[in-house]
Amino acid sequence: MKTLVINCGSSSLKYQLIDMTDESVLADGIAEMIAIEGSRLKHKPEGGDKIIIEEPMPDHQKAIEMVIAALTSDDYGVIKDMSEIQAVGHRVVHGGEKFKSSVLINDEVIQAIEDCADLAPLHNPANLIGINACKELLPNVPMVAVFDTAFHQSMPQKAYLYGLPFEYYNKYGVRRYGFHGTSHRYVSARTAEILGKPVEELKIVVCHLGNGASCCAVDGGKSVDTSMGLTPLEGLIMGTRSGDIDPAIIQFIMDKEGISIDEMMNVLNKKSGVLGVSEISSDFRAIEDGVAEGDKDAQRANDVCNYRVAKYAGAYAAAMNGLDAIVFTAGLGENNPLVRQEICEYLEFLGLKVDKEANKFRSKERVFSTADSKVAALCVPTNEELMIARDTKEIVKL
Ligand code: AMP
Repeated sequence: MKTLVINCGSSSLKYQLIDMTDESVLADGIAEMIAIEGSRLKHKPEGGDKIIIEEPMPDHQKAIEMVIAALTSDDYGVIKDMSEIQAVGHRVVHGGEKFKSSVLINDEVIQAIEDCADLAPLHNPANLIGINACKELLPNVPMVAVFDTAFHQSMPQKAYLYGLPFEYYNKYGVRRYGFHGTSHRYVSARTAEILGKPVEELKIVVCHLGNGASCCAVDGGKSVDTSMGLTPLEGLIMGTRSGDIDPAIIQFIMDKEGISIDEMMNVLNKKSGVLGVSEISSDFRAIEDGVAEGDKDAQRANDVCNYRVAKYAGAYAAAMNGLDAIVFTAGLGENNPLVRQEICEYLEFLGLKVDKEANKFRSKERVFSTADSKVAALCVPTNEELMIARDTKEIVKL
């Protein structure tokens, strides 16, 4: 069964075609600058060279048409015609409290995703555009929605409620939802496989450290707490997002700088985090280089970010009353040994011991704690697309 996985943003559309008989990726790519000047499709067939097709894409429907044309091309395609696409799995960011797992898409589901749009105004409408465009172009192909929030729906109320008037939860659904759920689910399940233990018996902290970053406490295979909240702004210090701050800072800065709430939110989302603290870059590679060269601005950002992750990991060990494994994933977690090392050092009091030599690697599945460490430390490259394709296969049952 060949499954097309779609991750649709407001101006981009990432895709992978996966053959679910052996879970191999047949092709992947991204349509960029949709509805913007300079739109292009970057397509890579498995084992072949990346192809860049520059063509105007006025909307997402045109982008999906181009994806299908690339997948079926005589020159760089991987399937004969689009009838080989037997199912489509869509990443959807917000499923609110309605979706606790992935679902087959029908009109009612589309309506419910629309209803959640005020919780994710930048993401859900873009995800819906992708769903509707596929519905037009592949009308008889079953589609599945896989939600970033669904894995965290197992959180207990004590973890998802804020210390706000309860009526805001009742009236508006103001609570912690959490994101990156598909990644946390994949990584925690894979960790159990690597450790050779049932996930039901493990207490795991997953650190998804990319441009967006979150920690998740996974107890017995279920998310019991996570650092992102109502929106992906809460929690860890990210590429350009502030993560946790004292909420009173917002009014304080607005008064001092004479800026509006929209401008302040822009500061918190786009000008803070690694970029804001370092005044160098939002890309941690620049921070890594700066630390190696003894740059104090880079060192400051490195220290503040790692400390925040370690605090969350420690808090989650308390939340779960134990810790069997800490796992690193996403761009930074997979590729930065120093970040992994420094975060783990804060957890030595739990009996976590890093094998410094074993930790010298980038982007591999590996245990890098010592044999006598009481807590396992691992790196597990995330694979959200595969998880989406697996859910799609299971729900479509082809
Ligand atoms: P993501 O959002 O998962 O793509 O992660 C982006 C972050 O990962 C950025 O801060 C990058 O600096 C970092 N990153 C991605 N790839 C590498 C790499 N090969 N080496 C070091 N850092 C990387």
